[in-house]
Amino acid sequence: MRIGLKNHNQGVIPAQAGIHNHRPISYCKNLEASGIWIPAGVYPGFGAGMTKVCLLLLCLLWHFSAHAEEAYQTFNLKNGLEVIVIPNHRIPAVTHMIWYKTGAINEKPGKTGIAHYLEHLMFKGTGLTKAGEFSSAIARNGGHDNAFTTYDYTAYFQVIPKESLEKVMTLESDRMVNLKVPENEAVNEKQVVLEERRSRLENNPKARLLADIRAELYKGYPYANTVIGVKSDIENLSLNDVMNFYHAYYAPNNAILVVSGDVTPEEVRNLAEKYYANIPARDIPKPVWPEAQPVQKHLVTLHDKTVKQNELFVYFRAPSVNSKDKEMAFPLLLLSEILGGGPTSRLYQDLITTKKQAVEINSYYSEIALGTSEFAIQAIPAAGADFKTLENSIDGEIAAIAKGGVTAEELARAKNLLESEVIYSHDSLRSLAFIYGEAAASNLPADYVAKWPGNIEAVTPAEITAAAKYLAEDKNKVTGYLAP
Ligand SMILES: [Zn+2]
Repeated sequence: MRIGLKNHNQGVIPAQAGIHNHRPISYCKNLEASGIWIPAGVYPGFGAGMTKVCLLLLCLLWHFSAHAEEAYQTFNLKNGLEVIVIPNHRIPAVTHMIWYKTGAINEKPGKTGIAHYLEHLMFKGTGLTKAGEFSSAIARNGGHDNAFTTYDYTAYFQVIPKESLEKVMTLESDRMVNLKVPENEAVNEKQVVLEERRSRLENNPKARLLADIRAELYKGYPYANTVIGVKSDIENLSLNDVMNFYHAYYAPNNAILVVSGDVTPEEVRNLAEKYYANIPARDIPKPVWPEAQPVQKHLVTLHDKTVKQNELFVYFRAPSVNSKDKEMAFPLLLLSEILGGGPTSRLYQDLITTKKQAVEINSYYSEIALGTSEFAIQAIPAAGADFKTLENSIDGEIAAIAKGGVTAEELARAKNLLESEVIYSHDSLRSLAFIYGEAAASNLPADYVAKWPGNIEAVTPAEITAAAKYLAEDKNKVTGYLAP
């Protein structure tokens, strides 16, 4: 996913392969084949928050540029499955996605990694299919498929020729309820997961540092763990553990079906009724998330001889559209732009152009999360610049906005930047399904995407000041130093 979108902070980030996703996310198979780039980690790099912004804008552009297209439609089946259809008839292809509203956020202590391990096992057989048959059937039908797990949701998708939609629905509805994994497949796949953990986390110093930052930023909260899980937890997970998680959370009333592309809502409704409607709803365990504890360790440092250059990370715990202080969410999105959105941004101007303390600086914030979110700044110090000086300069810029605010012109430029930095994706079918699916999986209303541009437009300079003040006073802040 997210291929072909321009990195928001392109001006300051060296060319990268694809776009990072800020939240631990892992695509697990057929990576090259599906054209999906995986964040080198279960962790992201940067520039990603913007991805989300860009995707939403992409959507907006889509609506403007494709005015002849039908708008999206949503409906629910009797068993609670939410269905979103986004017709577009320019290409005879369809994206079919199932989103389960579960991920690492639902894992219990000692059982981390279970959501992601289950995602792998979803390809290992059902009453109807043997291990591997799901994907080979999709490939035989001219499509490709993949899946990913995050804290908040787990999604499975297939991009297929229109005529294969019914086949895909047969298979995906089957594994919503009939997962049947042979013990030996589960054992073998655990080694695959452990290898994935080694390559993306253990052998990646930046990913390890970011994991350490999260552990402090979200102590006591499910977001403190990595999505891929603690190694010993993964080693100890049994097939029974995984099946219990599957039976608890994989149900139509805890899922969203998104179909975009060359279909009509009627076609999707008929097929959904045929294949998904007979799957019974379940009682889904009500999540009980503890409050994250106040941050106590504000600095984490990681030295690794494979690190090529120093890198600084400043993370603040910040509200999302679903959390306390949610009114800060849209102002924080624009503040991120004003602080780190390209060469005209405050941090770039001050730290790179004027003080020459940094050679790269980016800010990142995503407003969408089930729980709380985070606001982050990443910088590469210039030769001879020390971490602390750079960190103080960053804090100084935030404090300056908290005290003096921003100009109307500066805010208008940030709003324009959010819109103009989007380029049209060739991959938009999948992106649109992703945008709508993510919003729905994050418990946001169906019109969230449509209202997004208006919410951005409505942000005032006073709200930017308040958002900067929020960060300046945020005691839940963790700084990370990555060094050789
Ligand atoms: Zn994986």
